[in-house]
Amino acid sequence: MEKSHENVEAFGWAARDTSGVLSPFNFSRRVTGEKDVQFKVMYCGICHSDLHQLKNEWSNSIYPLVPGHEVVGVVTEVGSKVEKFKIGDKVGVGCLVGSCRKCENCNNDLKNYCSDMILTYNGVDTDGTTTYGGYSDIILTNEHYVVHWPENLPIEAAPLLCARITTYSPLRYYGLDKPGMHIDVVGLGGLGHMAVKFAMAFGTKVTVISTSVSKKDKAIDRCNIRQFKMNMKKLEFGNSHFWKNLKSGNLAVQNLEIWLSSKIWKFG
Ligand SMILES: [Zn+2]
Ligand SMILES: [Zn+2]
Repeated sequence: MEKSHENVEAFGWAARDTSGVLSPFNFSRRVTGEKDVQFKVMYCGICHSDLHQLKNEWSNSIYPLVPGHEVVGVVTEVGSKVEKFKIGDKVGVGCLVGSCRKCENCNNDLKNYCSDMILTYNGVDTDGTTTYGGYSDIILTNEHYVVHWPENLPIEAAPLLCARITTYSPLRYYGLDKPGMHIDVVGLGGLGHMAVKFAMAFGTKVTVISTSVSKKDKAIDRCNIRQFKMNMKKLEFGNSHFWKNLKSGNLAVQNLEIWLSSKIWKFG
């Protein structure tokens, strides 16, 4: 396909300020580079981190901000040196569109830990421009950060591009995937649901721990959970104390005792 040398016109939905309101946004994507895959966005998940970012709740939002990091679509153009993809392929992009490709983490296929990773949106690309996410009609990135989307997987499963790495990956990495094991999942939000589904698919016995009694019915009805614990201690995920402790691992250990001693319900 003959490639255009003009930037590509794109359309998206952008936050302009902390109001949480998205409005139409015309912008341009860069020309498809020789290792880039450009695709038409068919579906993009809404992650809670999108909501945090569009309201600048993490104090790092660059406006206008086009969220979306669970992006599924069909390839419309590939660069001359792209090897893994062709026009018409169904593909997905998650949280990253770039990394240094040189550090120890990158060399060990752990680019999500690269200190120079480029986020799919609200990041700074190699050319100094701000990255715009999947709440848009087209997106492009180096093929290294694109995955093939299985034909038998509905595009509505796009949230797997974010929540999969944060739930499936640790369960597998720490060997918490053996039938008969007992897994406690703290919190039944978006990631919690995903963790519960994976853990149950692995054949483990799952308990949900929550600060909200309303989650008890959700756990029973939607997730078929037979055991639920209430914990009255609310975690303050947004404060700097939380993040500092999370980095050192202290918070997880401090809270483990509280969680394990929670009030418990058993069903069935
Ligand atoms: Zn996410
Ligand atoms: Zn790196």
